Amino acid sequence: MEQTIVWLFLVFFAAEFVVEFVLNELNLRHVRARCDAGQVPDFFRDKLSREEYKKSVEYTLAKGRFQRWAEIYGRLIALLILFSGLLGLFDALAARLAQQFALGIYGQGIIFCLAVALYFIIAGLVTDLYSTFGLEAKFGFNKITVPLFVTDKLKTLVLGFMIGVPFLLIILWLMQATGRFWWIWAFVFVSAFQLLMIVIFPTFIAPWFNKFEPLQEGEFRKRILALAEQVGFKTSGIYSMDGSKRSAHSNAYFTGIGKSKRIVLFDTLLEQMSIEQGLAVLAHEMGHYKMKHIQRMLIVQTVFLLAGLYVLSLLLDFQPFYAAFGLAPSHHAGLVLFSLLSGAFTFYFGPLMNLLSRKHEYEADRFAALTLRDGKPMEEALINLTIKNLSNLTPHPWYSAYHYSHPTPAERISAIRSQVG
Ligand SMILES: [Zn+2]
Repeated sequence: MEQTIVWLFLVFFAAEFVVEFVLNELNLRHVRARCDAGQVPDFFRDKLSREEYKKSVEYTLAKGRFQRWAEIYGRLIALLILFSGLLGLFDALAARLAQQFALGIYGQGIIFCLAVALYFIIAGLVTDLYSTFGLEAKFGFNKITVPLFVTDKLKTLVLGFMIGVPFLLIILWLMQATGRFWWIWAFVFVSAFQLLMIVIFPTFIAPWFNKFEPLQEGEFRKRILALAEQVGFKTSGIYSMDGSKRSAHSNAYFTGIGKSKRIVLFDTLLEQMSIEQGLAVLAHEMGHYKMKHIQRMLIVQTVFLLAGLYVLSLLLDFQPFYAAFGLAPSHHAGLVLFSLLSGAFTFYFGPLMNLLSRKHEYEADRFAALTLRDGKPMEEALINLTIKNLSNLTPHPWYSAYHYSHPTPAERISAIRSQVG
């Protein structure tokens, strides 16, 4: 039985790897071929010189080549912890420490989970460092200094510890104390926890990393006030963020629910855009708010959560599951194994979530164009953002369908034109 479990996992694990790898290679080839063919792609032809287009292609290719190695490296890291006996070693170590300090089974569980988390954090540093100080720096995007990089990491660690440990303790306790239907209790708890995080993230967590300031007085602010009133969005929730201290990439996002909802514009974006374009971006983000996209995403995630917890509850009582990976049965071992293995089986849902997300993006674009009674500003904002971020102008259609949470700029522009005219 153990053998079968291992093989089943390996088959899915390998399939996931092949899909990711092949899509990436297809994308690289597609981008290169399009560039060699000569012309700057449609919609960008009179906005972008041949040189600038070439630079965006080089950036895409460099990222893809990095992705190739990062993918292989990540797989090896996962295989190493699963099949080298490390998990058993961590668990034995956790048991010994817990005994020494009289922390009980919960203490052992927490130490075990922390050890596994630490393993992945350390392994991830390699790719993170190269991506930030190698790749992004080479193309002039990286603005983060080494001290800031280190403080960011430390803050993330502290935050993960402060939130993660109580969270795990409650889950482990629910597994222990609430009997056969623990997964329903856990579902209620995790759902409430997710809601809490959505509320506290914008107001308490994000400000620990960035400065958020209400938009400055002036023409832009006046226009925004008018737009917000028209749409029915509270302007107290519109902020500019100092994204420029980490990266020259520009962005905007909508987050939070209820009173904590806010639209965040990167300072880099405000610098690069005209007032008209900035307003279009804001109108787009307000569209996400108006159409309750965050709530809709949450509902979908909730269904996945319930299904996932149910499957975990079945696996917890299934002895060969632990034996297959050299672990003694325990709640914490089940929890960690499940989180390490489940990705290979659930990654096919990723494209479905992206499909939903892209649908939301089309809706928000349409909302912006209709609200401004003009599709041009949104179109120009998209073109501007794409050029400044050196985004891939010609992704392979399978690659973008699979990986992109946003439609490609060309798809979005076509949609705006067909809807608004
Ligand atoms: Zn959007």
